[in-house]
Amino acid sequence: MKKEPEPLPLSRKHLAFTSFRDIQQLLQEKSISCQQVVEYYLTNIREQAQLGAFVEVYEAEAQAQAKEVDIKISQGRAGRLAGMVIGLKDVLCLRNHPVQGGSQILNGFRSQFTATAVQRLLDEDAIIIGRQNCDEFAMGSSTENSSFFPTRNAANPNRVPGGSSGGSAVAVQAHMCTASLGSDTGGSIRQPAAFCGLVGLKPTYSRVSRHGLIAYASSFDVIGTLTHTVEDSALLLEIMAGPDEYDSTVSQKAVPAYTQFLSADSKPRKIAYLQNTLSHEGIHPDIIQKTEQALDSLRQDGHILEPIDFPLLEYVLPTYYILTMAEASSNLSRFDGVRYGYRSPKSHTMEAMYKKTRTEAFGEEVQRRIMLGTFVLSASYYDAYYTKAQKVRRLLQNATRDILKEYDFIVLPTTPTPAFKLGERATPIEMYLADLFTVQASIAGVSAISIPVGNSQEGLPVGLQMIAGAFGEAELMSFAYHFMNKHPLN
Ligand code: GLN
Repeated sequence: MKKEPEPLPLSRKHLAFTSFRDIQQLLQEKSISCQQVVEYYLTNIREQAQLGAFVEVYEAEAQAQAKEVDIKISQGRAGRLAGMVIGLKDVLCLRNHPVQGGSQILNGFRSQFTATAVQRLLDEDAIIIGRQNCDEFAMGSSTENSSFFPTRNAANPNRVPGGSSGGSAVAVQAHMCTASLGSDTGGSIRQPAAFCGLVGLKPTYSRVSRHGLIAYASSFDVIGTLTHTVEDSALLLEIMAGPDEYDSTVSQKAVPAYTQFLSADSKPRKIAYLQNTLSHEGIHPDIIQKTEQALDSLRQDGHILEPIDFPLLEYVLPTYYILTMAEASSNLSRFDGVRYGYRSPKSHTMEAMYKKTRTEAFGEEVQRRIMLGTFVLSASYYDAYYTKAQKVRRLLQNATRDILKEYDFIVLPTTPTPAFKLGERATPIEMYLADLFTVQASIAGVSAISIPVGNSQEGLPVGLQMIAGAFGEAELMSFAYHFMNKHPLN
């Protein structure tokens, strides 16, 4: 069923605006209207359709919304996000719109409510431009597991954009919207951000309400942002985060004014870098080179850097995959052909209907994870796998939090390699290795950001990951902001 789009080189190099600040400035000068901003993005979407970033574009609605926001601006009653155009990963609910999690099993389903995070952006006059391609139920690292089509990296269309929020990353990378909302369970925001040269923020677990996010692994899932600048991430998080009566797991902690914190003093920090990530056998030489260059820049800026070993690194992937598959097998049991979306027309008994629906409409990777997840939760294997993985999770959490008691931040590459070729990673294990450096922060539930630090020799973006403690977003973003300002990429 997968359609192969033709590659298309990124043609629009002469860009009028990149960040929300650029847009705001033009709006203030009255040299542009929101309607023109939307037209600009719609043109880019149309001209780069071959990249496969969007599953659906809400053209007429975005135009109508823009018209309304223009009126509000002229009357001086516009919200803080007037002029911000946002794309949603296809796992976030928007009332009366389809949402499919990149899957055929939700074909025909429409949301009856809007995700809290999205609603808060709408309340500040953000414009939603469409829903974006992703790996099925956010399971994957390349967006090749989408049931629609693969998404292509705008830096080189023969390369993947990363995943699972690949469509959301390419949409920002190729200037089809100002920012995207994605979800990050084990790296799905940070890894595509690194592959596409963007800022990708995974907030602390429970910082943002998950109401209206299609669940993958509920004890890991976080909504976050893909943007060109740290400022845009800070602004979006400031508006999205905080208590919500629809999500009992969300933190009650007050939300700091992240945007005001950004330019706070850039005092010298104590930073740990994980030296065993740089000597890992799978790491690409260009990643080593760019990371070392970034570490040098940090030293020059007056920060104290200390190498540390993290011997538990070899346990992060097995722990992550056992726990997330277990949670996924439970979360995805609701897609049974009765309640949502697709139902197989070929069956005459209830049981056959369940089986056929799930066999026909779930993709291969999703089926693999449901089966493995069910296996690790089965009575005879529960203790050997699930309980053990929970214990190792605690060890990994403690070890990570111990480092973060002694150091302000942990710095490491976001990914072991730059973007790989479409079709190149044929086995699940090869694909899972793409998450080697991102799952630690997810297992520990702490905050992390990926920022662009230049290109590989082949011209592919490279990301640097910075990890801070739980609810350390204000310090983390301020630190990343200063780094990007002091070391601009040309
Ligand atoms: N690639 C990882 C996985 O497949 C992470 C996905 C995610 O963060 N949603 O589970």
